[in-house]
Amino acid sequence: MTTSPPGEIPCPSCSQPLALPVEAVLAGRAIVCAGCGLQLTAERDASRQALDALGRWYSETAAAREAAVGGAEPGSQPGTEEASRRAGRPRR
Ligand SMILES: [Zn+2]
Repeated sequence: MTTSPPGEIPCPSCSQPLALPVEAVLAGRAIVCAGCGLQLTAERDASRQALDALGRWYSETAAAREAAVGGAEPGSQPGTEEASRRAGRPRR
């Protein structure tokens, strides 16, 4: 993999970047942090508006993600580089 997936969030417990699998979140599945094992579960009722917004964002950025997979960097993800560094991914 040469491109970082969009939608990474820092783990609230250990600050390690967590990939946010939008499809899993929208489906109400738990996300498990690989660093500390924390389980994040979206409360669908409590965060219904956020999930709706996330779903809209997900569809609106689908084209940009496909372009990124094709090799072009969208260049609109502040913090991604720092997150990659914290994850210990070699960049050279
Ligand atoms: Zn964690």
